[in-house]
Amino acid sequence: MIVRRGIAVSPGVAIGPALILGVEDFRIPRQFVKKDAVETEVARFQAALATTCEEIAENERLAAQQLGAQYAAIFNAHLQMIRDPNLVEEIQGLIRDKHHSSEAASSKILRRYAKVFQNLGNEYFAERAADIFDIEKRLLRHLLGKKREAIADLTEPVLVLAANLTPSETAGLNREFVRGFATETGGHTSHTAILAGALEIPAIVGVGPFLSDINGGETIIIDGNSGEIVIAPDEPTLARYRNSEKEFKSHAAKLESLHTLDAVTADGVRIQLFGNIEFPEEVAHCLERGADGVGLYRTEFLYLGRETEPDEEAQFEAYSRVISSMQERPVVIRTLDLGADKLPGASTRSGMESHNPMLGLRSIRVSLQNLPLFKTQLRAILRASVHGNVRIMFPLVSSLMELRQAKMIVSDVVEDLEEAGIPYARKVPIGMMVEVPSAALLAEEFAREVDFFSIGTNDLIQYTLAVDRGDPAVAKLYSSGDPALLRLIAHVIDAARKYDIPVSVCGQMSSDPKFTALLLGMGLRALSVTPHAIPEIKQAIRALKIPQAEEIAARASTLEVSRDIENYLRGELKKTCPELVH
Ligand code: PEP
Ligand code: MG
Repeated sequence: MIVRRGIAVSPGVAIGPALILGVEDFRIPRQFVKKDAVETEVARFQAALATTCEEIAENERLAAQQLGAQYAAIFNAHLQMIRDPNLVEEIQGLIRDKHHSSEAASSKILRRYAKVFQNLGNEYFAERAADIFDIEKRLLRHLLGKKREAIADLTEPVLVLAANLTPSETAGLNREFVRGFATETGGHTSHTAILAGALEIPAIVGVGPFLSDINGGETIIIDGNSGEIVIAPDEPTLARYRNSEKEFKSHAAKLESLHTLDAVTADGVRIQLFGNIEFPEEVAHCLERGADGVGLYRTEFLYLGRETEPDEEAQFEAYSRVISSMQERPVVIRTLDLGADKLPGASTRSGMESHNPMLGLRSIRVSLQNLPLFKTQLRAILRASVHGNVRIMFPLVSSLMELRQAKMIVSDVVEDLEEAGIPYARKVPIGMMVEVPSAALLAEEFAREVDFFSIGTNDLIQYTLAVDRGDPAVAKLYSSGDPALLRLIAHVIDAARKYDIPVSVCGQMSSDPKFTALLLGMGLRALSVTPHAIPEIKQAIRALKIPQAEEIAARASTLEVSRDIENYLRGELKKTCPELVH
């Protein structure tokens, strides 16, 4: 039995067989073919080779266009390697003479070449070996006719283990059979972690290297409450975890009974408690827990986990579904926050990732550089707005120019709809995420030009503290209790108050009951949280009085380091709601 520990990102306990991604998908099913099938096999190899070359050539074209000639050269080198007549002849020779299957022959020859490079013992050649492994992967993918996302084809429950799951892969997980997952990389507020919460399955990220300890198929335990992963547990351990699985379910059931009660403090102040959603189906998770609306709809997930862009009708349909089901409760639709780690399926495979993606072309920057994409989304949102109470929110706004440009595009779309006589709601409020320090510092200027703010602490923390939210190596430095962050939040709240616009927090910080008193004490009266956290946050709100929350916030503001602030807040939560201290 081996026990490893990572970052717990979605609660609950899952027990089941391990499925390792990245090994399973390229398993070679047949080593040999019959003698009379060799020519068919050679033809199969040639077809896969042709498709692989086309794919690499397309990557070369895209790289040249978007990144420049030096990046395109990488793909050109791949093309030259794979088209090398000696290499192709050797693979075909193994199929013809030794009756190897195309997969076995390709893998054997390519790995032999890679080994030669590896043994030359210099960094340059070691990288060429990595190039050959990359080519092998592509070729096998075409020969086997499946992609990594093919885990959508599962037929029985599994716990997925992977070095990394991209947000699009996570979005594509088969929810019926994937009962939990654990990854070697990732941080507390990485999008993969947030998605695990949306899927409502136990998950752990940032475990560090552990896949080499596992063969696949053995029983494992993922404890999304403590962050523990147990490989090949013994009987007493299994019994203990089965018990804690039961306890977790009964604790959750008890909290669910709060759904009919309002989020109101013990001294009668009503707090708006909204849900954050990624998929339209999550509206049900919000409603069954008594949410006051949707405070953040991450629409980019419509794009992730699929090959083609959703057109205006597909978006209209998704937005209308969410808006109508919320029956006049507010729905804050955030425009596309693509880029960084949230790349649609096609671009993750094209090698198009930016060198420094968190500071690159992401979010509102993508929309403003691609106006047809942006306008299509705005048309769909505005058309759907007739079904209920909609608000539009822009992500990652970092300058007033950007905000003004985005608002101008909304006016253009409104004009188009007006001219075409297409119905839309007349007064849709327009707000912005405050998730870049520049926006927080200029909050007063922004407050004069928007209808509401929503503070995105997930990004605000990473940009304020220069800590990648998805990197486990710096996870200890990533803290919602950092005094610098608290000062920025206080400044944003003051600006909102001065210009009388609503302000909420929709980052993961608001889903942690440890921060509820602090946020209310700082003056917030609206929080948007992961749907499964609604009952806990409601309980924390109902146990508090505002003057007491204000005292807690005042005391926290005198502390100088995040660890002291977090410890202090944990201690205060222990006094009011001991059962919520994990
Ligand atoms: C945030 O950054 O806090 C936020 C809510 O946006 P996302 O997590 O989607 O980046
Ligand atoms: Mg963000």
